[in-house]
Amino acid sequence: MSPMLAILLRQISRFGPMSVAEYMTQCLLHPTQGYYTNTDPIGAQGDFITAPEISQMFGEVIGLCLAQTWLDQGAPDPFCLAELGPGNGTLMQDILRATKSVPQFHHAMRIHLIEASPTLRQRQKECLADFEVSWGDNIAELPDLPLYLVANEFFDCLPVRQFRKTDKGWQEQMIGAEGEHLHFVLGGLAPDGMFPDRLRDSMIEISPSATALCAAIADHIAALSGAALIIDYGTWGEMGDSFQAIKGQKKISPLADPGRADLTAHVNFRTLADAAQSKAQVSELVPQGLLLERLGITQRAQSLAQNMRPQELEAHISAHRRLTHPEEMGQLFKALAITPRGSKQPAGFSE
Ligand code: SAH
Repeated sequence: MSPMLAILLRQISRFGPMSVAEYMTQCLLHPTQGYYTNTDPIGAQGDFITAPEISQMFGEVIGLCLAQTWLDQGAPDPFCLAELGPGNGTLMQDILRATKSVPQFHHAMRIHLIEASPTLRQRQKECLADFEVSWGDNIAELPDLPLYLVANEFFDCLPVRQFRKTDKGWQEQMIGAEGEHLHFVLGGLAPDGMFPDRLRDSMIEISPSATALCAAIADHIAALSGAALIIDYGTWGEMGDSFQAIKGQKKISPLADPGRADLTAHVNFRTLADAAQSKAQVSELVPQGLLLERLGITQRAQSLAQNMRPQELEAHISAHRRLTHPEEMGQLFKALAITPRGSKQPAGFSE
Protein backbone atom coordinates (compact mmCIF):
# COMPACT_ATOMS: atom_id res chain seq x y z
CA MET A 1 0.00 0.00 0.00
CA SER A 2 1.34 3.44 -0.86
CA PRO A 3 2.10 5.79 2.08
CA MET A 4 -0.48 8.28 0.75
CA LEU A 5 -3.22 5.65 0.67
CA ALA A 6 -2.35 4.67 4.25
CA ILE A 7 -2.64 8.32 5.34
CA LEU A 8 -6.03 8.73 3.64
CA LEU A 9 -7.42 5.47 5.08
CA ARG A 10 -6.34 6.52 8.57
CA GLN A 11 -8.02 9.90 8.18
CA ILE A 12 -11.23 8.41 6.81
CA SER A 13 -11.40 5.83 9.61
CA ARG A 14 -11.02 8.59 12.23
CA PHE A 15 -13.05 11.43 10.75
CA GLY A 16 -15.34 9.79 8.19
CA PRO A 17 -15.52 10.37 4.42
CA MET A 18 -13.66 13.39 3.02
CA SER A 19 -14.75 15.83 0.31
CA VAL A 20 -13.26 15.60 -3.18
CA ALA A 21 -11.61 18.97 -2.48
CA GLU A 22 -9.92 17.66 0.66
CA TYR A 23 -8.80 14.54 -1.22
CA MET A 24 -7.29 16.62 -4.04
CA THR A 25 -5.43 18.88 -1.62
CA GLN A 26 -4.02 15.94 0.36
CA CYS A 27 -3.02 13.93 -2.70
CA LEU A 28 -1.40 16.83 -4.55
CA LEU A 29 0.20 18.83 -1.77
CA HIS A 30 0.70 16.62 1.31
CA PRO A 31 3.99 17.89 2.82
CA THR A 32 5.85 14.59 2.36
CA GLN A 33 3.67 12.30 0.20
CA GLY A 34 1.90 14.76 -2.12
CA TYR A 35 2.12 14.27 -5.87
CA TYR A 36 3.67 17.68 -6.53
CA THR A 37 5.86 17.45 -3.42
CA ASN A 38 7.36 14.15 -4.37
CA THR A 39 7.43 13.60 -8.08
CA ASP A 40 8.87 15.09 -11.21
CA PRO A 41 5.59 15.16 -13.09
CA ILE A 42 5.88 17.49 -16.09
CA GLY A 43 7.49 16.90 -19.50
CA ALA A 44 7.95 14.23 -22.12
CA GLN A 45 9.27 11.75 -19.50
CA GLY A 46 6.68 12.75 -16.88
CA ASP A 47 3.01 12.08 -16.35
CA PHE A 48 1.79 14.97 -18.45
CA ILE A 49 3.14 17.51 -20.88
CA THR A 50 2.10 21.17 -20.91
CA ALA A 51 2.15 23.82 -23.64
CA PRO A 52 5.46 25.44 -22.59
CA GLU A 53 7.08 21.98 -22.56
CA ILE A 54 5.84 21.30 -26.09
CA SER A 55 7.54 24.32 -27.63
CA GLN A 56 9.40 27.50 -26.69
CA MET A 57 7.01 29.39 -29.01
CA PHE A 58 4.21 29.25 -26.44
CA GLY A 59 6.14 31.18 -23.77
CA GLU A 60 7.64 33.55 -26.32
CA VAL A 61 4.33 34.83 -27.69
CA ILE A 62 2.75 34.93 -24.21
CA GLY A 63 5.77 36.93 -23.01
CA LEU A 64 5.38 39.43 -25.82
CA CYS A 65 1.67 39.74 -25.05
CA LEU A 66 2.48 40.59 -21.42
CA ALA A 67 5.19 43.06 -22.45
CA GLN A 68 2.87 44.79 -24.94
CA THR A 69 0.22 45.13 -22.23
CA TRP A 70 2.84 46.59 -19.90
CA LEU A 71 3.81 49.12 -22.59
CA ASP A 72 0.13 49.94 -23.28
CA GLN A 73 -0.31 50.70 -19.59
CA GLY A 74 2.56 53.19 -19.58
CA ALA A 75 5.43 50.81 -18.74
CA PRO A 76 5.19 51.09 -14.93
CA ASP A 77 8.58 50.78 -13.21
CA PRO A 78 8.91 48.79 -10.99
CA PHE A 79 6.32 46.09 -11.68
CA CYS A 80 5.78 42.50 -10.61
CA LEU A 81 6.09 39.73 -13.19
CA ALA A 82 4.37 36.76 -11.55
CA GLU A 83 3.52 33.19 -12.37
CA LEU A 84 1.21 30.78 -10.56
CA GLY A 85 2.45 27.17 -10.47
CA PRO A 86 5.49 27.52 -12.77
CA GLY A 87 6.20 23.77 -12.92
CA ASN A 88 9.69 23.28 -14.37
CA GLY A 89 10.13 27.04 -14.91
CA THR A 90 10.08 26.66 -18.69
CA LEU A 91 7.31 29.18 -19.38
CA MET A 92 8.99 31.90 -17.32
CA GLN A 93 12.33 31.15 -18.98
CA ASP A 94 10.77 31.58 -22.44
CA ILE A 95 8.93 34.75 -21.37
CA LEU A 96 12.22 36.21 -20.13
CA ARG A 97 14.10 35.34 -23.31
CA ALA A 98 11.40 36.83 -25.53
CA THR A 99 11.20 40.09 -23.53
CA LYS A 100 14.96 40.64 -23.25
CA SER A 101 14.91 43.22 -26.01
CA VAL A 102 11.84 45.14 -24.80
CA PRO A 103 13.43 48.35 -23.51
CA GLN A 104 13.36 48.66 -19.70
CA PHE A 105 11.19 45.55 -19.22
CA HIS A 106 13.87 43.50 -17.49
CA HIS A 107 15.14 46.50 -15.61
CA ALA A 108 11.68 47.26 -14.17
CA MET A 109 10.48 43.70 -13.43
CA ARG A 110 10.46 41.95 -10.06
CA ILE A 111 9.92 38.24 -10.68
CA HIS A 112 7.69 36.48 -8.16
CA LEU A 113 6.65 32.83 -8.39
CA ILE A 114 3.86 31.17 -6.46
CA GLU A 115 4.76 27.52 -6.02
CA ALA A 116 3.69 25.03 -3.35
CA SER A 117 6.13 22.24 -4.17
CA PRO A 118 9.66 22.46 -2.70
CA THR A 119 10.87 20.05 -5.40
CA LEU A 120 9.55 22.22 -8.22
CA ARG A 121 10.80 25.42 -6.53
CA GLN A 122 14.30 23.94 -6.66
CA ARG A 123 13.81 23.06 -10.33
CA GLN A 124 12.66 26.65 -11.06
CA LYS A 125 15.66 28.07 -9.17
CA GLU A 126 18.03 26.13 -11.42
CA CYS A 127 16.16 27.05 -14.58
CA LEU A 128 16.07 30.78 -13.72
CA ALA A 129 19.53 30.99 -12.12
CA ASP A 130 20.42 34.09 -14.16
CA PHE A 131 17.60 36.14 -12.62
CA GLU A 132 16.66 37.49 -9.25
CA VAL A 133 13.50 35.67 -8.24
CA SER A 134 11.34 35.54 -5.11
CA TRP A 135 8.93 32.73 -4.20
CA GLY A 136 5.72 32.68 -2.21
CA ASP A 137 2.94 30.29 -1.23
CA ASN A 138 0.00 32.43 -2.20
CA ILE A 139 -0.88 35.71 -3.83
CA ALA A 140 -1.29 37.56 -0.54
CA GLU A 141 2.52 37.72 -0.58
CA LEU A 142 2.74 39.53 -3.92
CA PRO A 143 4.51 42.89 -3.71
CA ASP A 144 2.28 46.00 -3.89
CA LEU A 145 3.19 46.71 -7.52
CA PRO A 146 1.42 46.67 -10.89
CA LEU A 147 0.99 42.96 -11.58
CA TYR A 148 1.59 41.13 -14.87
CA LEU A 149 0.68 37.53 -14.13
CA VAL A 150 0.39 34.29 -16.04
CA ALA A 151 -1.15 31.00 -14.91
CA ASN A 152 -0.93 28.06 -17.29
CA GLU A 153 -2.51 24.78 -16.18
CA PHE A 154 -2.69 26.06 -12.63
CA PHE A 155 -6.40 26.57 -11.97
CA ASP A 156 -7.16 22.99 -13.05
CA CYS A 157 -5.31 21.59 -10.04
CA LEU A 158 -7.19 23.70 -7.52
CA PRO A 159 -9.58 21.59 -5.42
CA VAL A 160 -13.21 21.14 -6.46
CA ARG A 161 -16.27 20.04 -4.52
CA GLN A 162 -18.85 17.88 -6.27
CA PHE A 163 -22.60 17.67 -5.64
CA ARG A 164 -24.84 14.96 -7.01
CA LYS A 165 -28.57 15.27 -7.52
CA THR A 166 -30.49 12.62 -5.58
CA ASP A 167 -34.08 12.11 -4.44
CA LYS A 168 -33.25 14.14 -1.35
CA GLY A 169 -31.71 17.16 -3.12
CA TRP A 170 -28.06 18.03 -3.82
CA GLN A 171 -25.76 15.79 -1.83
CA GLU A 172 -22.01 16.31 -1.66
CA GLN A 173 -19.99 13.54 -3.24
CA MET A 174 -17.43 12.34 -0.70
CA ILE A 175 -14.66 9.77 -0.61
CA GLY A 176 -14.97 6.89 1.82
CA ALA A 177 -13.21 3.55 2.25
CA GLU A 178 -13.99 -0.15 2.40
CA GLY A 179 -11.06 -2.19 3.55
CA GLU A 180 -8.11 -0.85 1.63
CA HIS A 181 -10.20 0.58 -1.22
CA LEU A 182 -11.37 4.13 -1.67
CA HIS A 183 -14.77 4.75 -3.20
CA PHE A 184 -17.30 7.53 -3.69
CA VAL A 185 -20.10 7.91 -1.14
CA LEU A 186 -22.84 10.48 -0.70
CA GLY A 187 -22.48 13.01 2.08
CA GLY A 188 -24.63 15.76 3.54
CA LEU A 189 -27.21 17.84 1.72
CA ALA A 190 -26.20 21.19 0.25
CA PRO A 191 -28.04 24.10 1.89
CA ASP A 192 -31.40 24.96 0.33
CA GLY A 193 -31.06 27.36 -2.58
CA MET A 194 -27.34 26.73 -3.13
CA PHE A 195 -27.98 25.55 -6.69
CA PRO A 196 -31.13 27.26 -7.94
CA ASP A 197 -32.28 26.60 -11.53
CA ARG A 198 -30.29 23.40 -11.92
CA LEU A 199 -33.07 21.06 -12.86
CA ARG A 200 -31.27 19.59 -15.86
CA ASP A 201 -27.94 18.85 -14.17
CA SER A 202 -27.14 15.67 -12.31
CA MET A 203 -23.70 16.68 -11.01
CA ILE A 204 -22.31 20.09 -10.16
CA GLU A 205 -18.67 20.90 -9.54
CA ILE A 206 -17.58 24.07 -7.80
CA SER A 207 -14.15 25.38 -6.90
CA PRO A 208 -14.33 27.91 -4.07
CA SER A 209 -10.51 28.22 -4.05
CA ALA A 210 -10.39 29.06 -7.76
CA THR A 211 -13.03 31.78 -7.54
CA ALA A 212 -11.52 33.28 -4.38
CA LEU A 213 -8.10 33.38 -6.01
CA CYS A 214 -9.45 34.99 -9.16
CA ALA A 215 -11.29 37.64 -7.14
CA ALA A 216 -8.10 38.45 -5.24
CA ILE A 217 -6.12 38.81 -8.49
CA ALA A 218 -8.82 41.13 -9.87
CA ASP A 219 -8.68 43.21 -6.67
CA HIS A 220 -4.92 43.58 -7.02
CA ILE A 221 -5.15 44.59 -10.68
CA ALA A 222 -8.02 47.03 -10.03
CA ALA A 223 -6.00 48.72 -7.30
CA LEU A 224 -2.51 48.68 -8.81
CA SER A 225 -3.04 47.97 -12.55
CA GLY A 226 -1.53 45.17 -14.63
CA ALA A 227 -2.98 42.09 -16.33
CA ALA A 228 -3.57 38.42 -15.57
CA LEU A 229 -3.60 35.77 -18.29
CA ILE A 230 -5.28 32.55 -17.22
CA ILE A 231 -4.81 29.65 -19.62
CA ASP A 232 -6.26 26.22 -18.96
CA TYR A 233 -8.50 23.49 -20.22
CA GLY A 234 -12.10 24.04 -19.46
CA THR A 235 -15.39 25.46 -20.57
CA TRP A 236 -17.68 28.45 -20.15
CA GLY A 237 -20.03 27.03 -17.52
CA GLU A 238 -20.23 23.60 -16.00
CA MET A 239 -19.52 20.29 -17.59
CA GLY A 240 -20.70 17.88 -14.91
CA ASP A 241 -18.10 15.51 -13.52
CA SER A 242 -14.65 16.47 -14.81
CA PHE A 243 -12.58 15.18 -11.90
CA GLN A 244 -9.78 13.10 -13.44
CA ALA A 245 -6.37 11.57 -12.84
CA ILE A 246 -3.45 11.31 -15.24
CA LYS A 247 -0.52 8.97 -14.83
CA GLY A 248 2.07 8.14 -17.46
CA GLN A 249 0.18 10.40 -19.91
CA LYS A 250 -2.98 8.25 -19.56
CA LYS A 251 -6.25 8.73 -17.73
CA ILE A 252 -6.81 6.50 -14.70
CA SER A 253 -9.53 6.47 -12.05
CA PRO A 254 -8.97 9.44 -9.71
CA LEU A 255 -9.12 7.09 -6.71
CA ALA A 256 -6.76 4.45 -8.14
CA ASP A 257 -3.32 5.72 -7.15
CA PRO A 258 -3.49 8.63 -4.68
CA GLY A 259 -0.28 10.68 -4.43
CA ARG A 260 1.16 9.09 -7.57
CA ALA A 261 -1.17 10.52 -10.23
CA ASP A 262 -2.01 14.09 -11.20
CA LEU A 263 -5.53 15.11 -10.17
CA THR A 264 -7.40 17.86 -12.00
CA ALA A 265 -10.83 19.19 -12.89
CA HIS A 266 -11.77 21.27 -15.92
CA VAL A 267 -11.84 24.98 -15.24
CA ASN A 268 -15.24 26.65 -15.25
CA PHE A 269 -14.22 29.99 -16.75
CA ARG A 270 -17.64 31.51 -16.19
CA THR A 271 -17.21 31.34 -12.41
CA LEU A 272 -13.74 32.89 -12.73
CA ALA A 273 -15.12 35.71 -14.88
CA ASP A 274 -18.02 36.25 -12.42
CA ALA A 275 -15.57 36.47 -9.53
CA ALA A 276 -13.42 39.08 -11.29
CA GLN A 277 -16.09 41.10 -13.08
CA SER A 278 -17.29 43.24 -10.20
CA LYS A 279 -13.77 44.55 -9.70
CA ALA A 280 -11.94 44.56 -13.01
CA GLN A 281 -12.38 44.10 -16.75
CA VAL A 282 -12.62 40.54 -18.02
CA SER A 283 -11.93 39.62 -21.65
CA GLU A 284 -13.87 37.22 -23.80
CA LEU A 285 -12.87 33.60 -23.44
CA VAL A 286 -10.49 32.92 -26.35
CA PRO A 287 -9.53 29.42 -27.53
CA GLN A 288 -5.79 28.84 -27.17
CA GLY A 289 -5.30 28.16 -30.89
CA LEU A 290 -6.89 31.45 -31.88
CA LEU A 291 -4.99 33.37 -29.20
CA LEU A 292 -1.63 31.97 -30.31
CA GLU A 293 -2.43 32.63 -33.97
CA ARG A 294 -3.37 36.24 -33.19
CA LEU A 295 -0.10 36.60 -31.27
CA GLY A 296 1.87 35.53 -34.31
CA ILE A 297 2.88 31.96 -33.46
CA THR A 298 2.87 30.92 -37.12
CA GLN A 299 5.28 33.68 -38.14
CA ARG A 300 7.48 32.74 -35.18
CA ALA A 301 7.31 29.08 -36.23
CA GLN A 302 8.39 29.98 -39.77
CA SER A 303 11.28 32.07 -38.58
CA LEU A 304 12.53 29.31 -36.23
CA ALA A 305 12.12 26.74 -39.02
CA GLN A 306 14.64 28.52 -41.20
CA ASN A 307 17.53 27.37 -39.03
CA MET A 308 16.35 23.82 -38.47
CA ARG A 309 17.63 20.52 -39.79
CA PRO A 310 15.04 18.25 -41.46
CA GLN A 311 14.86 15.94 -38.40
CA GLU A 312 14.06 18.89 -36.13
CA LEU A 313 11.59 20.35 -38.57
CA GLU A 314 9.12 17.49 -38.28
CA ALA A 315 8.91 17.80 -34.48
CA HIS A 316 8.64 21.58 -34.80
CA ILE A 317 5.69 21.39 -37.20
CA SER A 318 3.92 18.87 -35.02
CA ALA A 319 4.50 21.08 -31.92
CA HIS A 320 2.88 24.04 -33.71
CA ARG A 321 -0.06 21.83 -34.65
CA ARG A 322 -0.38 20.42 -31.15
CA LEU A 323 -0.56 23.88 -29.58
CA THR A 324 -2.98 25.42 -32.08
CA HIS A 325 -5.08 22.80 -33.91
CA PRO A 326 -8.72 22.56 -32.75
CA GLU A 327 -8.46 18.78 -32.50
CA GLU A 328 -5.40 19.03 -30.29
CA MET A 329 -4.97 21.77 -27.64
CA GLY A 330 -6.28 24.63 -29.78
CA GLN A 331 -9.92 24.42 -28.76
CA LEU A 332 -9.98 22.54 -25.44
CA PHE A 333 -7.55 25.02 -23.87
CA LYS A 334 -8.80 28.57 -23.44
CA ALA A 335 -7.54 31.89 -22.15
CA LEU A 336 -9.09 34.69 -20.15
CA ALA A 337 -7.50 38.08 -19.43
CA ILE A 338 -8.17 40.33 -16.46
CA THR A 339 -7.18 44.01 -16.75
CA PRO A 340 -8.20 47.28 -15.10
CA ARG A 341 -11.60 48.68 -16.13
CA GLY A 342 -11.40 50.86 -19.22
CA SER A 343 -7.92 49.68 -20.24
CA LYS A 344 -7.00 48.23 -23.64
CA GLN A 345 -7.44 44.45 -23.91
CA PRO A 346 -4.16 42.53 -24.09
CA ALA A 347 -3.07 41.63 -27.64
CA GLY A 348 -4.87 38.54 -28.91
CA PHE A 349 -7.89 38.95 -26.63
CA SER A 350 -9.95 40.99 -29.07
CA GLU A 351 -10.34 40.98 -32.86
N1 SAH B 1 2.49 26.03 -15.36
C1 SAH B 1 3.34 24.87 -15.54
C2 SAH B 1 3.01 23.71 -14.59
C3 SAH B 1 1.59 23.28 -14.45
S1 SAH B 1 1.43 21.97 -13.23
C4 SAH B 1 3.35 24.44 -16.98
O1 SAH B 1 2.56 24.95 -17.75
O2 SAH B 1 4.16 23.59 -17.34
C5 SAH B 1 0.80 22.83 -11.81
C6 SAH B 1 1.81 23.63 -11.04
O3 SAH B 1 1.13 24.30 -9.97
C7 SAH B 1 2.94 22.86 -10.38
O4 SAH B 1 4.09 23.67 -10.39
C8 SAH B 1 2.40 22.66 -8.95
O5 SAH B 1 3.40 22.35 -8.02
C9 SAH B 1 1.76 23.98 -8.70
N2 SAH B 1 0.67 24.00 -7.70
C10 SAH B 1 -0.40 23.18 -7.65
N3 SAH B 1 -1.24 23.55 -6.67
C11 SAH B 1 -0.70 24.64 -6.09
C12 SAH B 1 -1.11 25.51 -5.02
N4 SAH B 1 -2.25 25.30 -4.35
N5 SAH B 1 -0.30 26.55 -4.69
C13 SAH B 1 0.86 26.78 -5.39
N6 SAH B 1 1.29 25.99 -6.40
C14 SAH B 1 0.54 24.94 -6.74
